[in-house]
Amino acid sequence: MLNIGCHLSTSRGYVQMGKTAAEIGANTFAFFTRNPRGGNRSAPDPEDLKALRLFLEEQAFAPLVIHAPYTLNLCSDKPNVCEYAKQVMSEDLSLLNALPGNYYNFHPGCHMRQGPETGIRMISDALNRIMHADVKTCMLLETMAGKGSEVGSTFEEIRAILNRLELADKFGVCLDTCHIFDAGYDIIGRLEDVLSEFDRVIGLARLRAIHLNDSKNVLGSHKDRHEKIGRGMIGLEALIAVVRHPALRELPFILETPNEIDGYADEIALIRECVRTGKLPDAKDRMDPVSDPAGHADSGMASLTGCATASDGTPKEALFATENAE
Ligand code: FE
Ligand code: FE
Ligand code: ZN
Repeated sequence: MLNIGCHLSTSRGYVQMGKTAAEIGANTFAFFTRNPRGGNRSAPDPEDLKALRLFLEEQAFAPLVIHAPYTLNLCSDKPNVCEYAKQVMSEDLSLLNALPGNYYNFHPGCHMRQGPETGIRMISDALNRIMHADVKTCMLLETMAGKGSEVGSTFEEIRAILNRLELADKFGVCLDTCHIFDAGYDIIGRLEDVLSEFDRVIGLARLRAIHLNDSKNVLGSHKDRHEKIGRGMIGLEALIAVVRHPALRELPFILETPNEIDGYADEIALIRECVRTGKLPDAKDRMDPVSDPAGHADSGMASLTGCATASDGTPKEALFATENAE
């Protein structure tokens, strides 16, 4: 059974996300625990959380892959930014104990000219503070595109963080296809080699979820701009090979493509069909592979999933509190 879903909004509550997912043919999904640009959230209704937990059990959903706000930075050069990230992640993990057994993925961080070694040490020290024995959620480090000073764009950096973790069993990896392609891992021509390298450096047992995205940019571009499935530089064939790969096919696949809900429903149906039949749709039935120039580049998930970066390439971090923002 293919486990696939997409990002959903919490705006209509928690159990409603489960129902929406089921309506569009999904059996997993993702959501942001709060505004992805950081900031506070109103406390969710415990009854609503319980209703979602029961719904997921009844419907036998695969684990969810819940996304931390992407502006959090565990290895900032500003101590209050690091403290804020630790506080938000700790709060999120307590909240998620009401939805046990799911995943909580996060961007490792941006080292802000402190160097990757310092970043790796700060991230792992922070994770050792955040994680504790009572947490019922596995935290997933996301593989990154290597934009700006992002840590985690090589398998070696992810491994170096994992090596320093005390409760290592409570951590895994979420592989984002757009990010690793932009980081220079050729999943079009060399998927087997890339997965062998992942296995050798990190271990495939650590891989718990896939963010399934096409990319607007070429291999090694370090850009991190998601594209609709089959419309980008990775393409449908290579993405279906990822979904069908024996080492990956049991994992939850999450779409973070620039779509509204109907577009997600179409992508889920397309991918399910390709996996079921083992064939790609005829070329004449496929969408134009050139992305719409007036399209969705900066709307929806395209802008929501990047590590927010100012035009000068400086990451914008979630600050301690809005009044502290310069
Ligand atoms: Fe992602
Ligand atoms: Fe992400
Ligand atoms: Zn991204």
